[in-house]
Amino acid sequence: MSNRKKIVAGNWKMNKTYSEAITLLYEVKDILFKSKKNDGVLKIIAPPFPYLHDLHEASKGIRNIYIAAQNCSSEEAGAFTGEVSASMIKSVGANYVIIGHSERRIYFKETHQDVRKKVDLALKHHLSPIFCIGESAEDRKENEQFEVVGSQLTDSLFHLEPTEFSKVVIAYEPVWAIGTGITATTAQAQEIHLFIRSLIEKKYGKEISGSTSILYGGSCNAKNATELFLCPDVDGGLIGGASLKAAEFSEIIHSFPQ
Ligand code: PEP
Repeated sequence: MSNRKKIVAGNWKMNKTYSEAITLLYEVKDILFKSKKNDGVLKIIAPPFPYLHDLHEASKGIRNIYIAAQNCSSEEAGAFTGEVSASMIKSVGANYVIIGHSERRIYFKETHQDVRKKVDLALKHHLSPIFCIGESAEDRKENEQFEVVGSQLTDSLFHLEPTEFSKVVIAYEPVWAIGTGITATTAQAQEIHLFIRSLIEKKYGKEISGSTSILYGGSCNAKNATELFLCPDVDGGLIGGASLKAAEFSEIIHSFPQ
């Protein structure tokens, strides 16, 4: 049994009004409160920016629950209309920030350089990055998933000092599995997770690679979570669609083998 943190993170994306978001959090809290199963699993909720503070307040009272932002600016502060900085996110009570999600890379044209700057600012302001990497369907068709994932990892993270790197959570999210209903097989997930861990080991050594949590994301739901979480190098999930329903999200949290 490894000593890595087991994590289930819900990425709510651009969904829910304020009152719906509060209701969803209370529903999740209620289920988790009644069943203490998998109390030790870290639960992370990533709501839209305007709800970060109130959801942080509302999440109090449940063990191991944290709030994340879905993105942060690559700039520290200043005249960047519409941007939200890492220090602002920290100041409203969040502890994590998702960086490099494929939707940001594809729709908002974020580059390796942008996400690297975001990682540096997040760490500077004591936020742990949940750093997303993953290949497209085309990359996989060309059997280029290892190169793509490898360069996403090394270009944006491997400049970090070991103490900084150990605060990062990795999320492997094949783009072809996100929101498509197609999930990576356990063999595909395990193969890439092991590859990611071996790159981390080469750069940072066994202790850090052994304690880095690597989450799987991409159409993970209550039906397939158990088999994915049984893979030795899968330490949990980053959940999109299935995190919007309290019962299903809680079931995913309860899917870890005891
Ligand atoms: C995601 O966007 O991070 C994600 C995993 O989405 P879904 O679970 O809906 O595929």
